[in-house]
Amino acid sequence: MSVQAATLESISSSLKSLSIAATSVVSHAASTSPDSWKEAVSSLATGANFQYTKTLLFKPKTAKTAKAYPVLVVAKNDTETNTTALGKEINQKEMRLAAPELLQDFLGATKDDVSPLSVSKANGPEGSHPLLVVLDAFVASSEEQFAFHAASSEKTIFLTGKEVAKYLESTGAKVETIDFSKLASNPAPMPKANAPSASGVSAPGVTQAPVANNNAARARAADAAKNPDAELIGITVRKDGDFPEWYQQVLKKGDMLDYYDVSGCYILKPWSYNVWQAIQTFFDAEIKKLGVENCYFPMFVSSDVLEREKDHIEGFAPEVAWVTRAGSSDLEKPVAIRPTSETVMYPYYAKWIRSHRDLPLKLNQWNSVVRWEFKHPQPFLRTREFLWQEGHTAHLTLEEADKEVKQILKLYQRVYEDLLAVPVVPGVKSEKEKFAGGFYTTTVEGFVPTTGRGIQGGTSHCLGQNFSKMFNITVDDPKATDETRGTPEGKLFVWQNSWGLSTRTIGVMVMVHGDDKGLVMPPRVSQIQTVIVPCGISAKMTPKEKDTILDACEETARSLREAGIRAKADLRENYSTGFKFNDWELRGVPVRLEIGPKDLEKEQVVAVRRDNGEKASMKTKELVHELPKLLDAIHDSMFKKADDIYRAHRKVVTKWDDFTRTLNTKCHVIIPWCEVEACEDAIKDRSARQGSEGEAQDERAPSMGAKSLCIPFDQAQYPDIAGLECPQCGQKAKRWTMFGRSY
Ligand SMILES: [Zn+2]
Repeated sequence: MSVQAATLESISSSLKSLSIAATSVVSHAASTSPDSWKEAVSSLATGANFQYTKTLLFKPKTAKTAKAYPVLVVAKNDTETNTTALGKEINQKEMRLAAPELLQDFLGATKDDVSPLSVSKANGPEGSHPLLVVLDAFVASSEEQFAFHAASSEKTIFLTGKEVAKYLESTGAKVETIDFSKLASNPAPMPKANAPSASGVSAPGVTQAPVANNNAARARAADAAKNPDAELIGITVRKDGDFPEWYQQVLKKGDMLDYYDVSGCYILKPWSYNVWQAIQTFFDAEIKKLGVENCYFPMFVSSDVLEREKDHIEGFAPEVAWVTRAGSSDLEKPVAIRPTSETVMYPYYAKWIRSHRDLPLKLNQWNSVVRWEFKHPQPFLRTREFLWQEGHTAHLTLEEADKEVKQILKLYQRVYEDLLAVPVVPGVKSEKEKFAGGFYTTTVEGFVPTTGRGIQGGTSHCLGQNFSKMFNITVDDPKATDETRGTPEGKLFVWQNSWGLSTRTIGVMVMVHGDDKGLVMPPRVSQIQTVIVPCGISAKMTPKEKDTILDACEETARSLREAGIRAKADLRENYSTGFKFNDWELRGVPVRLEIGPKDLEKEQVVAVRRDNGEKASMKTKELVHELPKLLDAIHDSMFKKADDIYRAHRKVVTKWDDFTRTLNTKCHVIIPWCEVEACEDAIKDRSARQGSEGEAQDERAPSMGAKSLCIPFDQAQYPDIAGLECPQCGQKAKRWTMFGRSY
């Protein structure tokens, strides 16, 4: 469902039809928060006497089958709108701020321009308007003027409270007027003393302790998830309170991405794309040192070629997207869009590789691939189209191929650890988890502490000779004898590798480092490494005094940029210092430099770290030497913090009884494993079942089964495995293997 967005014209005409003379509409800078709205409007010096408002869309909990019935709260900006108490009052459960999509779907609005005027008859059919509007009683009965967004974050309209109430009544939406001041002062009602207890027995005359019902517990959980600083910074939930919502808000408000009207696809904005480019720059230079060349193959694959390698296509078939039509006519033979390019490229490898002197052939492409998944999409982690690089190489011997598999995996580890400050565990995948159609798969495995789930970071596969046999990629064996030369026995199938790293890297980085204030960017990939904010500017200053500070900021930024540091002076006029601080914190800029009148006198700046909030003074003239050191120190401490947490969450377990229990403490489990595929299936089943019996029911954290993440290369860190048995099946253990719930 989608609705027509309100326009200034549609609003004016609706108001006119209600005989409301809305003559007062002002234009101003776009606002992205309550604070910037106030700044923008107050800079116009309208002289009018009015109060600001807020408009929030909530989505109460509804049964999966029931239609969503969103609640729009319209209140004076400083009215405390306690959603738990409100939910009780209007008999709705677990009211949570609606996702941006819902705001778009129901009102055609964004959080920056939503207002009661976004509600209109056009939002819903006559008599069955889908919205419940809750209007602050303070506003509803007031003759005073209030400010509302008018179809845009750049326009503000002034209406009296009564006029807004009248307008809302005319839209066909159900409107309830609520006195929030009374809600706030009334404690939530306690369960009645004679309510049946859990056991169903209640002794007469005995005052029973209130039985916490499930809804109250949930409401408390939702309350606990709220971010107390939300008004100030815009992230309304805490990271460890409501992680999925936190992730969405951080990406959107941190300016990493925007949503798109094809499900599962997202727009990468410069702030995130720059991270990808930093990864590209590093990795591209490194693979070129290994003799890899870049090229580009078409995104379309014919079905004949795609289906050449059976195991491979079985692994991908359900996700392959097909082009079946051009214009109005159906294609005679539909073509697929590459889910990966093995089968696209290898017919040409067969053509190009004529002799062992053509080996090794090492090609890479930076491209996007499409995997039309139907699981719940998650920005960066699971998207239908994603950016990656895919390397495809052919070698004369297995030894050469083996060597390269490890070299590439090491580079992937360096991308995570040296650029993104994210620790990973390198290892090899089990038979069940290896690349479809390949020989073996190596991987770097990351960890998201908030959920305790693992995430595959990048994979480097040895394909063996499986694909060269399917695509007939052969050379004359240099060791062929006179008898075999020129015969099939004198031919040798090449050994192949393929390896890929995707924009998933960015999602892992955000999940690992972000905090309740927003993104925390690792310095080496941050588009801006330091932002310089002028401070202490007051109305009493002369223009010259003010300019001195602004010039110092600009000059500092210039000299830092000259020294190779990505620096920016934030000289925006209409924003307060506090707003700027919050804004850059939300975007995670590693270091903020503050320059005020006193700092100028002392020839110093104040440097504030984003990762831990530490402040330190630095001499202005030493800045170009000190700042790079500080950025490295930030990188190191971000890595160490994440690494300590990951290590503390990898637990060696040798008895099955401890397996799921350890898993349920958000840990990965390292067991001495038999490496039998049926055993891996059994582990997944048993850990899922045990999880759901032993854990509190929480539908947002389903207790999925554990799968094998990798067999770590570094086996020496664990005890001697000789004589140990697999805790699941009792067979002889082969190698220590990391299991966990994962993305
Ligand atoms: Zn086993």
